[in-house]
Amino acid sequence: MPYRIGVDVGATKIAAGIVAGGRLVKSAKVATPKTNRRDVIATIAKLIRVFDHPKVTAVGVGIAGAVDAGRGIVYASPNLPKDFRDVKLAAALHRELNRPVAIENDAKCFTFAEATAGVGRQGKTVVGFTIGSGLGFGAVVEGKILHGRNGIAGEFGHTTVVEHGLRCSCGQAGHLESYASGGGMCRFYHQLTGRTVDTFELERLYQEGEIAARRTLTFCTEILALGIANAIAAFNPDIVILGGGMIRVPVFWRPAIAQVKKLVPYPAQLKDTPVVKTKLGDSAGIIGAALAAAR
Ligand SMILES: [Zn+2]
Repeated sequence: MPYRIGVDVGATKIAAGIVAGGRLVKSAKVATPKTNRRDVIATIAKLIRVFDHPKVTAVGVGIAGAVDAGRGIVYASPNLPKDFRDVKLAAALHRELNRPVAIENDAKCFTFAEATAGVGRQGKTVVGFTIGSGLGFGAVVEGKILHGRNGIAGEFGHTTVVEHGLRCSCGQAGHLESYASGGGMCRFYHQLTGRTVDTFELERLYQEGEIAARRTLTFCTEILALGIANAIAAFNPDIVILGGGMIRVPVFWRPAIAQVKKLVPYPAQLKDTPVVKTKLGDSAGIIGAALAAAR
């Protein structure tokens, strides 16, 4: 059985582990450096060294942002330090570690993991949303990740859903991510109340029945449903899989699943598209990065 290393680079933590037979065998995580790209690259390399072993056949890194997997470049990653732009990450890690390293967008890794070893295994066309600080998307068609010309295909988070709406992490306005993400709903709440909260605080206020928190969750859930319905109309997938840190807040995503049916256009076949939550959970990012590296 081949052993692979997967790394999941997120806004707050970098997690890595050994993957064998589609399962995470062991893992570790550290905080994501806030300083600069050199520190981020050094931290990724250090974590890979922890798990490297003669039996390891492939190393893959999944990272949020616009990633060109073919050329090994991260064009932009809004949740990492400001200088993390146009980074030749695959080459930099190859130099540090003296072995080939594949890179891929984190939401594509998530979807690939679920399509290969998770809840999407029976599907030919599998799409996934990762809902965390931002909103990522991936499509796997007949076992292959859909990349597009520059590797950036499927940036549903950066499609416009509200004209002249809330500012997005990418600098544009009214994007799906501006509402249907942890960061988006906190900004929405801030616009309503002038108060800065995190998603934990927002969920607590919602449970207490606070009106602004209720309004925020209700609106952001409707926007998430809109995004899922748009993806169903665009891809006619066998299954839609939801993952990411916000899965811990069911009051946000569960009502969206019911709303999707009303928003999906005819015919009935599209309306019947299953929308489910992740099976692999927090491990999906690491597993997907490892499996995608070996493709
Ligand atoms: Zn955007």
